[in-house]
Amino acid sequence: MIDRREFGQLLGGTALAAASPRWIAAPALAKGGAKVVIVGGGAGGGTVARIIKTEAPQIDVTIVEQRPIYTSCFNSNHFFGGFRSFASLQHSYDGLKKLGINVVTDTATGIDAGKKAVNTAVGTTLPYDRLVLSPGIDFKYDAIEGYSAAASEIMPHAWKAGPQTLLLMRQLEAMEDGGVVIMTVPGNPYRCPPGPYERACMIAHYLKTHKPKSKLVIFDAKPTFSKQGAFEEAFERYYAGIIDLNLTNEIDDFRVVRVDPKAMQVETASGTKLKGAVVNVIPPQTAGAIAISAGCAEGAWCPIKPENFASAKVDGVYVIGDAAIAVEMPKSAYTANSHGKVVAADILAALAGSDPAIPRYRNTCWSLLAAEDSIKIGADYTPGEHDGKQILVPDHPFVSQKGETAEVRRKNYAEGLAWYHAIIADAFNDNTALTHKG
Ligand SMILES: Cc1cc2nc3c(=O)[nH]c(=O)nc-3n(C[C@H](O)[C@H](O)[C@H](O)COP(=O)(O)OP(=O)(O)OC[C@H]3O[C@@H](n4cnc5c(N)ncnc54)[C@H](O)[C@@H]3O)c2cc1C
Repeated sequence: MIDRREFGQLLGGTALAAASPRWIAAPALAKGGAKVVIVGGGAGGGTVARIIKTEAPQIDVTIVEQRPIYTSCFNSNHFFGGFRSFASLQHSYDGLKKLGINVVTDTATGIDAGKKAVNTAVGTTLPYDRLVLSPGIDFKYDAIEGYSAAASEIMPHAWKAGPQTLLLMRQLEAMEDGGVVIMTVPGNPYRCPPGPYERACMIAHYLKTHKPKSKLVIFDAKPTFSKQGAFEEAFERYYAGIIDLNLTNEIDDFRVVRVDPKAMQVETASGTKLKGAVVNVIPPQTAGAIAISAGCAEGAWCPIKPENFASAKVDGVYVIGDAAIAVEMPKSAYTANSHGKVVAADILAALAGSDPAIPRYRNTCWSLLAAEDSIKIGADYTPGEHDGKQILVPDHPFVSQKGETAEVRRKNYAEGLAWYHAIIADAFNDNTALTHKG
């Protein structure tokens, strides 16, 4: 049993408060045999599973994850810059299995919320008392004419890490010096707001050090972006003449609306056409398909209750990580991990028969600009109201500025590496990330 003080510790000193829905009676959990099923064994899902199983081994915890090995998107841009090996991004589920978590390598194909069961591709039915959906993202392929899953084998997105990451790197390696690399960036919201600009730095670093006559042209659907000042300073300082950034403005709409994979050409809304030797299309995104088919979405994303990430649409289901729309929290691994901690505590609260914790969420996103030069953005978040809507209100926000010293940036870099180690330990029960070079 977990008491109030222990819950506080679990959430890093968070105070406790009353009034949150309970979907299963505490005695049912206390007797053991309660079933928690988690769809998606990534940054969010792995965290929920590990905490619940560690704190309450009597709970039957199952992860349904379609891939046998997880390749982290976070830090995957470092691979393009030569700062990380591909192998160092890959993590097995052995650590979670060792805790007694049932990791099922299968695809969840449907949720029967009435019967409280998850159906899978191989025909298994998994009953649950509580269900957590953390399936990440899927792509709105139809938002860009000519783009599709098949086209992504020619113009990779590399926005789900794995074979796509390797494909983009192999294309960069095969390109001749003097080639044009094109990157297309969607409008908000999407997975990892600063991710495209970190990737721009890492690709440009590769070009600068291996193919200095080459260029990276960015077509961006937005007029502004995350950590813009510090990123633009880095584009100028490290990658002048390589990165050509085209932000949408009053005159030009640089949203890419059409691609031709045969001709390796992209076309923007205002009619600019350009051919590239390598084309990295980051398409607009939606919540992972399973969350949408479960009825949890409104439009592309899944609204949640800010106090505990319970679905605002379907009882007995939590939606966390990128699939959730959690205004004003961005979509990041850090936030998915933070949602996961609160959800685990909310589920465990029923077991303890205690009041659920007051949730406190946090985000920090580090971006690597060049060797040992990282910037960061972040905030704490608490549930609150804005314009009559329940949202997550940022508190103590911070963002890296232009002109910071090399020492500050080196410290950021070290923090980012330490965070990678910590989140892999948290989500995969694997403490080897810091030392594993792959
Ligand atoms: C290039 C890039 C760089 C990034 N850098 C950072 C960074 O520096 N810091 C940061 O905090 N975040 C970063 N992110 C964002 C981060 O990767 C995501 O926000 C995070 O992974 C979201 O966690 P999640 O649990 O929602 O989804 P994921 O971690 O993607 O996990 C979802 C899992 O669900 C599985 N799944 C989906 N559907 C099903 C199904 N039907 N059945 C079974 N399994 C299913 C998937 O296989 C996947 O393993 C970056 C992203 C990108 C693309």
